[in-house]
Amino acid sequence: MFFRPSITFLAALLLWSSLLPTADALSKDVLVAIFAHPDDETTVAPLLAHYGNQGAEVYVICVTSGQQGTAFTSIPAGPLLGAAREAELTTACASYGIHPPRLLQEQDGQLASYTPAQITTIKQNVRTFLISVGATVLVTFGPEGFTGHTDHITVGNLVTELIDAWYAEPNPVLAPQKLYYSMFPQSLYPSLPVSLQFFVPVPDAEATTFFDAISGVAQAQAGVDAYVTQFPPSVMTDIKDFMGNIQQGQIPLRLVRTKNGMLYANEASVFDNVVGVSVGGAAAAATFLLLVSAGCRRAKNKGDATS
Ligand SMILES: [Zn+2]
Repeated sequence: MFFRPSITFLAALLLWSSLLPTADALSKDVLVAIFAHPDDETTVAPLLAHYGNQGAEVYVICVTSGQQGTAFTSIPAGPLLGAAREAELTTACASYGIHPPRLLQEQDGQLASYTPAQITTIKQNVRTFLISVGATVLVTFGPEGFTGHTDHITVGNLVTELIDAWYAEPNPVLAPQKLYYSMFPQSLYPSLPVSLQFFVPVPDAEATTFFDAISGVAQAQAGVDAYVTQFPPSVMTDIKDFMGNIQQGQIPLRLVRTKNGMLYANEASVFDNVVGVSVGGAAAAATFLLLVSAGCRRAKNKGDATS
C-alpha cells in the first residue's frame, strides 16, 4: 500500500511551498557594525567587505557625523565637515561592497555628556534600524573604545545596554542574535606604525575568534582612500600597509552576548549558530501541517489514498 496524493493535496503542497521563506530569508546573514564616527569602521573593514563578498547583507550605523574631526583638514568644525565626512563614509561603504551607511547625525565629541533621554533616543533609532534590516549579528566598540575615545566608549556601552534590555524582554524574537566587540590585539602593537600607536591594545586571549577576512582586504584598503579629510597620504599608506602586511585579514573579535546565552570560541564565521527568524518558519510550518491534514482527510473521504 502506498499514499497516492490527491489533486487537493498537491495543490496544498504547491501553496505551502510558495509560503516558505526563501533561502536568503532563512539564512538571515545580516551584519551591522555600529560605530561613532566616519572612519571608525576601518578597524573592521576587511571583515565587513569579506561578509559582503560572501553574500551577507552588511550595514554600518554611524552615530555622529564626525563634525569635530579637523586634525588633517582645513574644513572648519561643524555641519560642513560633518557632511564631508558622511560623504567619505558613503564612498568607503561603496568600496567595501556593502550597503550605504545609516547616519544618525549626533554630535561628535559630545556623546559622553548626552542626557539619559538623548541616549535613549539613540538606542531607539538603532533598534528601529536593526529591526528594519533584520540584523542578526552586531559589531561595536568594547569598553576600551579601540582608541579610548569617549564617543567610542559611549557607543559600545549604549549598544550593549540596548541588547541586554532587548534580551530581557519576554519575547525578543526580532533581537539580533550575537554581539561582538572589536579590538586591537596586543600581539600586533609592536608592529604598528608610529602614526597608529594611539590604538589601545587588548590581550589576544580576549579574542574569542580571529576571523579570516582576507577576501575583504583589498576593498578595505580602497575604502581608506575615501577619508581625505582624516588621513594624510602617509597615514593612508600606514593603514593600508597594516591591513595588508601586518594584520593580513585576520580580524579579532570578542563575542560578548548571544540570544541563546552561549559564548562560542573559534568560530568559522560570525554567522555560525545564527538561526532563521522563527516567526516566518513557524507560520509556514503550521500552514503546511494544516494543508497536509486537509489533503489527507479529503483523500481518505474519497477512498483514493491507497491502492
Ligand atoms: Zn572615532
